[in-house]
Amino acid sequence: MNVRGLEKSYGPNKAVAGIDLTIQPGEIFALLGPNGAGKTTTVEILEGFRDRDRGEVSVLGTDPGVKGEQARKWRNRIGIVLQSTNDAGDLSVFETVAHFAKYYSNPRGVDEVINAVGLTDKSKELIRTLSGGQRRRLDVALGIIGSPELLFLDEPTTGFDPEARRAFWALIQDLRKSGATILLTTHYLDEAEALADRVAVINQGKIIEVATPALLGGRATSLATVSWKGANGIQTERTDNPTALIRKLTETYKDEIPELTVKRASLEDIYLEMIGGADVSQ
Ligand code: ATP
Repeated sequence: MNVRGLEKSYGPNKAVAGIDLTIQPGEIFALLGPNGAGKTTTVEILEGFRDRDRGEVSVLGTDPGVKGEQARKWRNRIGIVLQSTNDAGDLSVFETVAHFAKYYSNPRGVDEVINAVGLTDKSKELIRTLSGGQRRRLDVALGIIGSPELLFLDEPTTGFDPEARRAFWALIQDLRKSGATILLTTHYLDEAEALADRVAVINQGKIIEVATPALLGGRATSLATVSWKGANGIQTERTDNPTALIRKLTETYKDEIPELTVKRASLEDIYLEMIGGADVSQ
């Protein structure tokens, strides 16, 4: 996927202000950014749901603005999980997934997909009886039923309980093993860290940095915080060379250093620093 100089304004509001992105086949790529940063606008342009003002976009080798038969063929190769849930409350989970399967030329098995998102027990239930998190899982099922080469996930695990979130991560990692490319937006930093090969931090319509979660914002070389229990309680020191400090402590304590921890900045610390304390509410 290739994006060059992408721009989109709503009236005077420049929601996307010149974005360049290259996403490799088979990669899980996460877009991070505060509310209103321009993530959904960007993703919806890539999905072909929104027009752009300027820039070049190629998704699976096709311009998402394409129309007609070419658009139909292209849509067959992508899967989409939007932020809002769809409404077909009077059908069962199975009926809904089976119905969506008909739109694709190479769908996965309906039962297999329902099982993959952990809804087997609910397969015969009507959608309107599902909880919020269960409906979100159904959205994910509808996004993957067509065996997509490229999957868009817009805040996919909002409303999931921790167990469902872990199960969802495993599902996404399985999809990647099958060769799918995945573009994810999320407000959960742990989700980006667990899933993404690379993340882009976007703020006010611009990309601030693209990096692996481990290297973002100089994270790997940021100061480490070493703490341990000294004579006067917990002591803390920030250092760029924690090994040297621990060597020194070993001389003092000979044996075990009491309550020793070494911590580097979390992805969330780095992210918040990068976006300058902007709102990251979910
Ligand atoms: P969130 O994390 O809250 O989903 P986001 O990063 O996805 O935010 P966008 O939805 O792309 O952000 O919005 C970017 C900017 O564009 C915001 O200022 C928003 O108010 C504005 N915007 C988005 N959609 C429209 C629209 N249809 N009409 C007018 N303005 C819009």
